[in-house]
Amino acid sequence: MTDSAAPTALPFLPFALPEIGDEEIAEVIDTLKSGWVTTGPKARRFEQDFAAFLGGEPGIEAIAVNSATAGLHLALEALGIGPGDEVITTTHTFTATAEVVRYLGADVRLVDIDPATLNIDPAAIEAAVTPRTKAIIPVHYAGLAVDMDAVLAIARRHNLKVVEDAAHALPTTHGGRLVGTLGSDITVFSFYANKTITTGEGGMAVTRDPALAARMKVMRLHGINRDAFDRFTAKVPSWYYEIVAPGFKYNLTDIAAAMGLHQLKRLQDFQAKRARFAALYDELLADLPLVLPPKPVGGDLHSWHLYVLRLTDDAPVGRDALIEALYAAGIGCSVHYIPLHQHPYWRERYDLQASDFPHSQRAYERMLSVPLYTRMTEDDVRRVAAALRRALQG
Ligand SMILES: *Cc1c(COP(=O)(O)O)cnc(C)c1O
Repeated sequence: MTDSAAPTALPFLPFALPEIGDEEIAEVIDTLKSGWVTTGPKARRFEQDFAAFLGGEPGIEAIAVNSATAGLHLALEALGIGPGDEVITTTHTFTATAEVVRYLGADVRLVDIDPATLNIDPAAIEAAVTPRTKAIIPVHYAGLAVDMDAVLAIARRHNLKVVEDAAHALPTTHGGRLVGTLGSDITVFSFYANKTITTGEGGMAVTRDPALAARMKVMRLHGINRDAFDRFTAKVPSWYYEIVAPGFKYNLTDIAAAMGLHQLKRLQDFQAKRARFAALYDELLADLPLVLPPKPVGGDLHSWHLYVLRLTDDAPVGRDALIEALYAAGIGCSVHYIPLHQHPYWRERYDLQASDFPHSQRAYERMLSVPLYTRMTEDDVRRVAAALRRALQG
């Protein structure tokens, strides 16, 4: 007997789905018909709207890129990270956070998480600082803010740069302030398909430092120096440009920005819906042998990019069996993340052992992420909760 043959079988509930509305579609069509499909007026407007969303404080600059990975690479390059340098980040992240350090020939120092928040442990950061350390990349895991006061204090004490990986953290607040305005050097957001807003592929690097902004803009597009260009536009023909560095091809297209313009307008509603579903999960799962996701303190905003559960030690099934049971019930799940110290490249490059990261390892072995997105319904949440209950109560 297969599930699909059963007359009562519900359709498969994917782990994630983007919510693309009529306005996004109309704006993309408008772009396609306009004759300007690469970076242009819509990408510029998306940057301005994004900076305004973050409060629009004077000097804040949002720089649109074609992925968060590109944004993180540009950020570290602008900060001058290179061979011989070390950058500290969490082992409990996606490889993009760390790979950009290697692009620049610098070394990654992975550290453990705080088991209560699943975010990078500030004490572990401090213990990992060496004379070679140049920067810290905190990741606001699942959309819960890192204790940035602690991270920024460590950075000040040791004269380190801070680049926030905010791929999950739109909109997230810490101490009442949005991630992107917390005082790090650069913050990078992702608009990948499963993130809280999407442009298909895309990202945004945010900074208040004009020199960093200028460098990222130059390196985003082949090392073309637009400032020199602008200064002389009155004197030189329109075809003239100057290359000042071997830059990258990281610009965001207007086709993608067209989606972003409307996704951004819906962001508050998206967050409210995700938060409502997260609260419903909390309520429905409270008596099961599960550790529910950590919550922000003091009324801060959680973006609820992910809803991550951990099995308690007395749970009657293991994580892998639980995921299989959910799939059998037609529900997609995922694991965030297989920690970097488990992957062959990172393990072998830095001779890492799971025992060096006991909290991340323990969380990984017990964790699963269940569906949480705006195209779900309350009934979908109840269905997932019921399937978890069946699997966990035998
Ligand atoms: C998605 C993600 C990235 C990369 O984002 P892209 O836009 O796909 O490059 C980086 N870090 C984390 C933690 C992510 O989840």
